[in-house]
Amino acid sequence: GTETPLRELDASRLKCTYTTSPRPVPAAGSAEQASQRVCTDHMIQAHWTSSTGWQDPSLQPYGPLSLMPTASCLHYATECFEGMKLYRGYDGKLRLFRPELNCNRMLMSTNRIALPAFPPSELLKLIAALCATDGPKWLPRDNPGAFLYIRPTMIASDPALGVQRPNEALLFVILTCFPPMDHLPAGMNLLASHDDMCRAWPGGFGYAKVGANYGPSLLAQGEARSRGFHQILWLFGPDCAVTEAGASNFFVVWRSRAGVVQLVTAGLGDRIVLDGVTRRSVLELARGRLAAGEGYAGLERVEVVERTYTMQEVVEAAEEGRLIEAFAAGTAWFVAPVARIHFRGREFGVPMGKEGRMGEYTRVLKSWLRGIMWGVEGWEGHEWGHVV
Ligand code: PMP
Repeated sequence: GTETPLRELDASRLKCTYTTSPRPVPAAGSAEQASQRVCTDHMIQAHWTSSTGWQDPSLQPYGPLSLMPTASCLHYATECFEGMKLYRGYDGKLRLFRPELNCNRMLMSTNRIALPAFPPSELLKLIAALCATDGPKWLPRDNPGAFLYIRPTMIASDPALGVQRPNEALLFVILTCFPPMDHLPAGMNLLASHDDMCRAWPGGFGYAKVGANYGPSLLAQGEARSRGFHQILWLFGPDCAVTEAGASNFFVVWRSRAGVVQLVTAGLGDRIVLDGVTRRSVLELARGRLAAGEGYAGLERVEVVERTYTMQEVVEAAEEGRLIEAFAAGTAWFVAPVARIHFRGREFGVPMGKEGRMGEYTRVLKSWLRGIMWGVEGWEGHEWGHVV
């Protein structure tokens, strides 16, 4: 054929236009920083059409998008996104955490909603370019432990209302300020979802990070917040299978009736749970460091279990004194210990460790992840840390 081949997304063709009106960096701990409204000076954009493929990506001043009111994403939820962080390390370096997993997951999400494919490695290069441009100013070296939130997004921008596969798309990446981790509750208070509402279902798209999973969850989340809970614990089906907590994966540590300590989380087989980067990392660290030999630093050895489990099992473990701890794990709120769960009008407590701050398994898993993300002494060269 004589057709010109469609162009691939190519980060080496990035065109940079730098801002002439740099934005002020909000003070650490300020309300402005916590508002999640403040973005850094620049953004990445790349346009695609089904007839040309990807145009040259650009790094340009942060600012509004221009879309027609007919744009597909505004009507048919043809949108997906990622959530990552840029960490200012204790060794002075700027790092991403296992970013190739996010880029692969973004491709999987775009596939689910008929948005265009791209080489995940090119997306990673674009993200790294934005982080290298804005990171040094927005995450000053004298504030180790700080981070920015990274939001890669793809939307269908076709200016036509036809219900069909998108023919135009826009990829963009922005960096936003985020409240510091010490704003988190000491222990999360979860409200189990009602029988009449679920987040995801077999044959649906819960496994993909598409916007369509999030908007419809906000009604339940708002109700939970107004009743004093921090997040919804999403259950599924007549047996009340435990799936996720808010926009985080959920883990429990219990002692089985056979007497074995188990770290349990929902499996990915039903495709209703997101394959979280934090989830995967917790499982890999636990399998590598907590599941072998005699156990770790006085902690009993754990068996790592990915399977469907029900609220009934959690309730029984609590009632029989076998529940050891529980936590939510995700990029945004990191590893967050759970203190209470409200299920069908009953409230039960989850143990929070000797000092009542967090359980011991939660604490070691969190400290290992923290070490890798922020280049804490002894962890600087870990392969999961991607220095930009
Ligand atoms: N579940 C859902 C529904 C989420 O939106 C997220 C956040 N991406 C997670 C779990 C946690 O995933 P990750 O560890 O990759 O942030």
